[in-house]
Amino acid sequence: MTTLAPGATAPRRSDQSLFADLYIDGAWRAGSDGRRFPVVDPSDGSTITEFAIASDSDCDAAIAAAEAAFPAWAATAPRERSEILRRAYEILTDEVEIFAEIMVRENGKAWPDAMGEAAYAKEFFRWFAEEAVRIPGDYRLSPAGDKRIVVTRQPIGVSLLITPWNFPAAMATRKLAPALAAGCTMILKPARETPLTAAYMVDVLERAGVPRGVVNLITPVPTGPAIARMLQHPAVRKLSFTGSTEVGRELLHQCADTVVSASMELGGNAPLIVLPGADLDVAIDGALLAKMRNGGSACTAANRFYVHSSLHDRFVQRFGERLSALRMGKGLERTNDLGALVSFAERDKVADLVATAVDEGAEVAVGGKPSEVGAFYEPTLLTGVAHGSTINRTEIFGPVTAVVRFDDVDDAVRQANDTIFGLMAYVFGEERAAMQVAQRLDAGMVAVNRGVVSDPAAPFGGTKQSGLGREGSSEGILEFLEEKYIAVTA
Ligand code: NAD
Repeated sequence: MTTLAPGATAPRRSDQSLFADLYIDGAWRAGSDGRRFPVVDPSDGSTITEFAIASDSDCDAAIAAAEAAFPAWAATAPRERSEILRRAYEILTDEVEIFAEIMVRENGKAWPDAMGEAAYAKEFFRWFAEEAVRIPGDYRLSPAGDKRIVVTRQPIGVSLLITPWNFPAAMATRKLAPALAAGCTMILKPARETPLTAAYMVDVLERAGVPRGVVNLITPVPTGPAIARMLQHPAVRKLSFTGSTEVGRELLHQCADTVVSASMELGGNAPLIVLPGADLDVAIDGALLAKMRNGGSACTAANRFYVHSSLHDRFVQRFGERLSALRMGKGLERTNDLGALVSFAERDKVADLVATAVDEGAEVAVGGKPSEVGAFYEPTLLTGVAHGSTINRTEIFGPVTAVVRFDDVDDAVRQANDTIFGLMAYVFGEERAAMQVAQRLDAGMVAVNRGVVSDPAAPFGGTKQSGLGREGSSEGILEFLEEKYIAVTA
């Protein structure tokens, strides 16, 4: 296995540099107008490198490359696509520490979170290597007996994949892998904060044997107008977006103009309910993961804790002790549990939310301060939070736990569902009671007595304004396939 000493610069090509260029039609290149933007290490504010900005003509070139590559790629044998995906999985397994280190450097996350994401991210290549050879179809006689109804599935076409910064690898592989397995060609647009992880993965795909033009990488700045323009192009037939609900709504409007198929993985505001009778050890271990995985910057992060009065004081006491014991610091120092937020702006947003919560009556039981150096924010516990208060309505996206006390389970369920979001929910309690509550929660995913649900073999996605469609599982590939019905006279 290739390993790097902590703090070493990850070697990429023979010139030892990180990939910081666009990848279009199988070639790395600077933007046509030569502009670049800085990629910043949020743990100290230093610039890691300058990444190429894609101009409109670069975006057009990426679409042209994907369009030209589509017929041949769509016609490859599923087994061939499967084996390329499997090789990508194997390369990432070999280079897992390099992969994790790039994420740590540009995203700021803690080393265990980066290794966890690397493991999760590469698993999508293995999973969809297996799905590529199992694309379903149907064949039956019509009820009138006059024809055979043949239903096949074909790749939808050139796909635009837009990803956020919080899981820069996994959110990309969750789209790249099914799109490749389906036989689509694609253009990946990573978040501005984390383009280096995306570029590294594109290099891995090239080494795994993905032909030129099939995967392209662009980073336009500003993003909005460039993407709006691309969505007008008749060759672009799919948008797969992961990011905020606000941007997702805007993109759905744009997709309407050209009737582009849209899959949306959007924001969350996950409730976590601790029912009377819950096993506190299980609840605290699970809640810690649900809240603190990825430093709280997860769409699935437990955002609103509802804890029954009978357990509230003990829960708060013990959860606070666990938060206080977390080591916060640079991700490259591998023993730290909590890394930096992705940017100083995100750190300040979390600090503002805590200040507002305090103004609205919450009490700081643990933490509550930003760092002086780097974009860190202490693990924080707020008690006395009111349902419907600002912090309770807002996706915190940081290491802040906001606890609401409840007496009546029906009230807790009502409050848990009282949100425009429906991505994720957590319930801790005696199994039968917890399962009953799980059935009543309006969310695409519910964790019962556990803190993590993500699994490439499970359908990931939300209800209400948390999204449209599912990623992973056998559903994930269907987002990149279109059904075709062929009638054959019987
Ligand atoms: P964001 O919406 O600001 O950005 C997401 C991506 O969209 C980035 O690549 C960004 O550059 C791009 N973008 C921004 N404005 C755009 C525009 N006008 N047109 C086209 N693209 C645009 O989100 P973020 O801050 O990067 O990520 C955090 C959000 O993502 C949170 O709300 C989180 O819940 C959500 N998220 C959801 C899931 C999920 O699976 N449901 C997973 C991870 C993150």
